[in-house]
Amino acid sequence: MRPPLILRTGGRSGPRDNDSHWLLDPHKRGVPGRDRMRRYDDADEVDLVVVGCGAGGATLAQRLARRGWRIVVLESGPFWDPDKDWVSDEAGSHDLYWTEDRVIGGEDPVELGKNNSGRGVGGSMVHYAGYAPRFHPSDFAIRTNDGVGVDWPYPYEELLEHYERVEQELPVAGQDWPWGHPHTYPHSAHPLGGGAERAWEGARRAGIEMRVGPVAITNGQFGNRPHCIYRGFCLQACKVNAKGSPLITHVPDALEHGVEVRDLCMAVRVEIDDATGAATGVTFFDRDGRERFQRAAAVAVAGYSIETPRLLLHSTSPRHPNGLGNGADQVGRYVMVQGASQVAGRFSETMDVFKAPPPEICSEQFYETDERRGFRRGFSIQTVGPLPIDWAGHVLADGHWGHALREYMRDYRHWSVLGTLCELLPQARNRVTLDEAHDRNGMPVARLDYTQCDNDRANIAYGKETLRTIWEAAGAQDTLTIDRYAHLIGGARIGTDPEESVCDSDHRIWGVPNVFIADGSALPTQGSANPALTIMAAASRLADRMAAGAGGRARVGLGSVGR
Ligand SMILES: Cc1cc2nc3c(=O)[nH]c(=O)nc-3n(C[C@H](O)[C@H](O)[C@H](O)COP(=O)(O)OP(=O)(O)OC[C@H]3O[C@@H](n4cnc5c(N)ncnc54)[C@H](O)[C@@H]3O)c2cc1C
Ligand code: SF4
Repeated sequence: MRPPLILRTGGRSGPRDNDSHWLLDPHKRGVPGRDRMRRYDDADEVDLVVVGCGAGGATLAQRLARRGWRIVVLESGPFWDPDKDWVSDEAGSHDLYWTEDRVIGGEDPVELGKNNSGRGVGGSMVHYAGYAPRFHPSDFAIRTNDGVGVDWPYPYEELLEHYERVEQELPVAGQDWPWGHPHTYPHSAHPLGGGAERAWEGARRAGIEMRVGPVAITNGQFGNRPHCIYRGFCLQACKVNAKGSPLITHVPDALEHGVEVRDLCMAVRVEIDDATGAATGVTFFDRDGRERFQRAAAVAVAGYSIETPRLLLHSTSPRHPNGLGNGADQVGRYVMVQGASQVAGRFSETMDVFKAPPPEICSEQFYETDERRGFRRGFSIQTVGPLPIDWAGHVLADGHWGHALREYMRDYRHWSVLGTLCELLPQARNRVTLDEAHDRNGMPVARLDYTQCDNDRANIAYGKETLRTIWEAAGAQDTLTIDRYAHLIGGARIGTDPEESVCDSDHRIWGVPNVFIADGSALPTQGSANPALTIMAAASRLADRMAAGAGGRARVGLGSVGR
């Protein structure tokens, strides 16, 4: 078979129009420039308020600040200083997670907490694992090609330049990528730890191709960011700034270009002028618990797939009695998680998975539909590297308690773990709504109902069996299995039909001239790739669209046509 054509889209040059890697201090991990950060008055009508400083929100703010937009970002969590706030310790990392009350339901409820969402400047990517794959071109047309889900209102090609740009900014390290749209990465592949080497060998014997990466982890010095030191605490936030998150990849440049990031500020309502139908700004509770209102010419909501629908549903007004953008009862619907079962394999020699980043190798061989498998769409396979507390959860989930649990814990160093990311399909019934319970600001807490469909169940079962096959081929003496979910997206999706979506292809809420959705909520499908890179690329594209006049005020002299 001829090797796939690899398109040389990577390269070694640094990112364009983003100096974050140079703006960081080589001797300190915190973001410099906070003391001289621009501050706006609530009464100033800024060009844009962004709600949430995570993957989508921070990328959008950085891009538009570079074009001269005056921007305030409201972030409900703290402005992290890695030197002071983070520890290389599982139990001590609790503050990173969004742990406020949420209610779950449905036939297959999704456990929410540290595995789904984060808080604070940088968002969930602060404690995400670091995998940074692209979606496949097929993900943008699964209704047309596979007869399931929905098509995106724009194709993969519209995200391509943004994928390439964000890959430079994070930066992403990995081998040449043969699946989807073949491409290269700006940093070369990291060396492998013992657990990943075993998994690679098992996969090879089972006829499954793996590749190293792609991970948003420096392989070499990058500006003032150091090389990864392979301590394995990526999921506890990387204390050395080797793993990319918006806190270090986009916020420094955003501050340098005049963005104010107002931390510990929780947005509770997007306000609409009933006469014009346009948003006037955002009401929020500040760090002292005071209710305030920030005026703005445009609003972008980027609070994650649960908090974004929650905020929209809570933003009622005479024009939007059931929530902002919810005229067609679409807000909160089509929330997706990926089926993320894991199978651990036991070997006589030590694997020491804690001595490497958890994300190491990946296969997208099963990504696309193969009718012989009995379901549509597919899954990817990745290494994961649980630290001891996570490992205890794994053992417990397989049904071991008491003495057996203790023995499995003592045996921790001998286990290596593989996980799937199964593409579970978008369904209207999988939805965020508002519960009767309220939080400390008097805002109803979010409720997430989730039920798998038959296609989802078949996909998860097949994926798990494939992991067992790999470990068997690798010569594992024992296996342990845990069923779980990862990553939430959807809930305020883009589309072409106002009756079937919340936003148009410019992420603008249907019928509202100046409110945009800039986070993972906007994504209509999820593929079986981890979503952060695509969320950032979509926000980067959105910035271009907004600057070209998709809503917002007339911006004379800033290269924009305005509305
Ligand atoms: C443990 C874990 C591992 C993961 N591993 C990977 C991985 O390897 N690869 C990958 O691609 N993805 C991974 N993810 C998922 C990835 O981190 C998220 O998909 C991505 O960060 C979501 O981006 P977002 O912009 O939608 O939201 P976020 O990045 O979560 O940003 C939302 C921000 O909004 C803030 N916010 C929410 N509501 C409000 C409000 N009302 N007012 C003010 N601020 C608000 C939050 O505090 C948060 O900072 C992982 C996630 C977790 C939790
Ligand atoms: S393994 Fe590398 S990227 Fe992960 S926490 Fe350690 S230094 Fe950071």
